[in-house]
Amino acid sequence: MIPFNKIYLTGKELEYIRQSHETGNLSGDGVFTHKASEWLENQTKTHKALITHSCTAALEMAALLAEIQAGDEVIMPSYTFVSTANAFVLRGGVPVFVDIRPDTLNIDETLIEAAITPRTKAIVPVHYAGVGCEMDTIMQIAKKYDLLVIEDAAQGIMATYKDRALGSIGHIGAYSFHETKNIISGEGGAILINDERFAERAEIIREKGTNRSQFYRGQVDKYTWQDVGSSYLPGEDVAAFLYAQLEKAKEITQKRLDIWNIYHEELEELEQKGDLRRPIIPAECQHNAHMYYVLLNSLDQRTELIKRFKKQDIHPVFHYIPLHSAPAGKQFARTHGELKHTDSLSERLLRLPLWVGLGQQQNEVLKVIGAKVATSFFLLSNTLDINMLRALNGVALI
Ligand SMILES: *Cc1c(COP(=O)(O)O)cnc(C)c1O
Repeated sequence: MIPFNKIYLTGKELEYIRQSHETGNLSGDGVFTHKASEWLENQTKTHKALITHSCTAALEMAALLAEIQAGDEVIMPSYTFVSTANAFVLRGGVPVFVDIRPDTLNIDETLIEAAITPRTKAIVPVHYAGVGCEMDTIMQIAKKYDLLVIEDAAQGIMATYKDRALGSIGHIGAYSFHETKNIISGEGGAILINDERFAERAEIIREKGTNRSQFYRGQVDKYTWQDVGSSYLPGEDVAAFLYAQLEKAKEITQKRLDIWNIYHEELEELEQKGDLRRPIIPAECQHNAHMYYVLLNSLDQRTELIKRFKKQDIHPVFHYIPLHSAPAGKQFARTHGELKHTDSLSERLLRLPLWVGLGQQQNEVLKVIGAKVATSFFLLSNTLDINMLRALNGVALI
């Protein structure tokens, strides 16, 4: 059986949880929470990073910080996870869906301006598959119309746009550490406060509306109810697990990139034959191998390929049912313009198994799709350098 996803452990997770237990403090904002925040701040260069229960929680915090009121509009793609929209709907906001770009499947930045109305408050770009949206253009539009940009960078850790970390470019960013993402803590996430105007309030909202964080730092002598808020901070056991993963984020990303690159190499011929389309990465983006997907020519072709995979006990998965076509999407949101790429691409996309340790099983996946797998003999380990692999492949073909 080859599953779509398999969790990867660095080996330090349980040790760090034991250490956090030994401190006698398992509630939030202890030693490991601070280590994780500091790591994220150094890595992304954000003003302040706060870990949360999930990316969903981080997006809900963002909606509170943006002071979304009933009827306020938020521009986003329909091709995304429900939380991107729900976080704003919870505040009475109205998601306004625009179409995606056919190359990256990210929000089409050229369609945003026409979707802006006097009620528009924010733009929420989603970095699909860890590939950056066209952020310079999006930030220019936001500036011109005085809008906030909240990046749904759930899939974006360790990826960059023009050498800047995804999630660190808009006013606020959100990461996910759900077990299906690159860096995991079971459920988990983080909010990146890039615009320091929001830093103090973010701490208060995350701590049930109190200034407990200031109290811990000795800035005030008692803590009290200051503002609206909720409990968005995870316990130290989750932070300890997460920190073990963050420490190895570079290595994990490299291992995923090795697998991604093999898929990309081996499927080139099928793309040239017109059987499928591979992901397109713009030159200004460094992705993080969050996902390897193929785009088939039709829904029927995808259905047929999934059947062939199932016969071999391999489990690729398709992705979002566009939000505008879902019951709650029809109730709470509206669309701007036609969403033809969203509709067409979502029914032709298939995500292939990609997890650290996939190893030789990657060959089995490639064979089902119909790749010739010339390098199969040498796909002994995902740790093989892609250049070495190319060299070996060259030898093999002679
Ligand atoms: C995974 C994901 C989320 C939700 O993340 P959680 O941590 O599970 O709340 C939100 N948006 C996108 C684009 C995602 O991929």
